[in-house]
Amino acid sequence: MKFFLFNGLTKFIVIIAYMNDELERILLAACTPIMVVMVLAEMAYAAYHHLKSYAVKDTANSLLFTSLNFIFDLGLRGASLGIYAFLYSLTPMRWEGGAVYWIALFFAEDLAYYVLHCADHYVRFFWATHVTHHNSEKFNLTVAIRSSVFQPFYRFLFFAPLALVGFQPLHIVFMYAATQVYGFWIHTEFIKKMPAWFEFIMVTPSHHRVHHGSNVKYLDKNMGMVLIIWDRLFGTFAAEDDAEPVRYGVTYKNKLNPVTLLLGEWGKLWHDVRHAQDLATALKYVSRPPGWSPDGTTLTSSQLRQQLPAIREAPPAQISELLLS
Ligand SMILES: [Zn+2]
Ligand SMILES: [Zn+2]
Repeated sequence: MKFFLFNGLTKFIVIIAYMNDELERILLAACTPIMVVMVLAEMAYAAYHHLKSYAVKDTANSLLFTSLNFIFDLGLRGASLGIYAFLYSLTPMRWEGGAVYWIALFFAEDLAYYVLHCADHYVRFFWATHVTHHNSEKFNLTVAIRSSVFQPFYRFLFFAPLALVGFQPLHIVFMYAATQVYGFWIHTEFIKKMPAWFEFIMVTPSHHRVHHGSNVKYLDKNMGMVLIIWDRLFGTFAAEDDAEPVRYGVTYKNKLNPVTLLLGEWGKLWHDVRHAQDLATALKYVSRPPGWSPDGTTLTSSQLRQQLPAIREAPPAQISELLLS
């Protein structure tokens, strides 16, 4: 037992000591200037064509949220890496390295992100954080960096299993950054469709416009970050329908006040929990999808979809009542 503990501790210290984030640094140094140029080009294109893709306050909120997220990310980075390293030191699983290792890591990482993103949408506690990525009514490249501000506090839970199956902690963090970089270009209205084979396999701007839609048929769809095949496999895929233009944002009207945008969902969740009749109901408010209510006064996205035919025929005032959550 003593030997096991000593051995585990030694492995843990060795893993921590050899951690360096060279790969991630190179990736971000190479990509950041390209991203800035892409944002400026999109802004110029929108201005030239008199398109309302950008709004000053909205972009300011996106920049604020990404800055806050950056601070939390940096602060919690050591803790996340430490947890990955600890799990990695416990597992006997090791990979040979090489192409197979990196390909396997890519698939595992993208699947783990898909699970995280589903939790963000289907568990109200996580949605209260993830909503900051969705509460812009615009859709442009700056929305890509409009982060889920508090996500660094729990994100590691979803990637920790990768360390347990033998992926190196720093490689997990690097692959996460790489998949996030991919997620940048899909936040644009100006690329309509990619070639059919690409649309079938990869997440595209068309898929991700759907993801940011507040239309009932688009809610909680297309969760993938790089591969759309997860959505096709697990039944969360929805194609962009030309007959139903995407209304970006959330199902209720938002103010542009950053404090409300950041904490509003937490306030509503706290209100529901406080007024819950018993502990079981309070826990359901926290763990069930956004919109869940014990008496059906507010509805989840799947409940709303079941009612879609009725909603389509209802007068507008009644529709907004149904959608409010
Ligand atoms: Zn989302
Ligand atoms: Zn997005």
